[in-house]
Amino acid sequence: MIVGEQKPFEEIWGMVKDHKQLTVFGCNTCVAVCQQGGNKEAEILASLLRMRATQEGLEIEIKNGGIERQCEHPFFESAKDLLDQSEAVLSMACGIGVQFIAAKYMSTPVYPALNTTFLGDVQTDWNFTEKCQACGDCVLGTTGGICPVSRCCKRLFNGPCGGSSKGKCEISKELDCAWQLVVDRLEALGKLDDYEKLAPVKDWSKDRAGGPRSFKLEGF
Ligand code: SF4
Ligand code: SF4
Repeated sequence: MIVGEQKPFEEIWGMVKDHKQLTVFGCNTCVAVCQQGGNKEAEILASLLRMRATQEGLEIEIKNGGIERQCEHPFFESAKDLLDQSEAVLSMACGIGVQFIAAKYMSTPVYPALNTTFLGDVQTDWNFTEKCQACGDCVLGTTGGICPVSRCCKRLFNGPCGGSSKGKCEISKELDCAWQLVVDRLEALGKLDDYEKLAPVKDWSKDRAGGPRSFKLEGF
């Protein structure tokens, strides 16, 4: 899932305070799971902005709403009236959703309420951790299912480096060394021989070297 964190309130207020009308617009998929950008958070943020506007003596009509996903056209049907009538939109989606609305509503200012931070998972203690950087050429099949791109601080493909100590990364004692995790997992899989194989130089051209990437589903 895509993980995001709400921007500081003062930064959000600074972006929107000059408008006379604003819609705070939630996205109910990834950023709702991390409780930063769903309908509930849109409602809370809209209330905080209304209070701030009252404190400052500003007349801003602030509505709130949301849809299931701000990155797919069909979901926008239910919010057409709301968005058509909006002078400005404060999107609670990730950066993809913000850009998607901006492209759909060319003359409407669209502001990001979140900082999009990473692609990650959610643990049982609601800890969100980065697990993938969408490098475009997945190597998990040879690294015991541990991603060296997102989990090794140096993005090493033949680790560990000399700084690995007692299973921790030299960058921080809080961080597991990704390559220790790779070794542990390969051992558990009975595939430690794989660790001895040198990984070839990674083809980074499948990352972002050629500009924004795209993929077309044929037949649709
Ligand atoms: S190797 Fe690339 S695609 Fe695979 S999990 Fe890591 S960043 Fe994502
Ligand atoms: S200690 Fe491990 S995780 Fe940290 S940079 Fe070195 S190989 Fe990567």
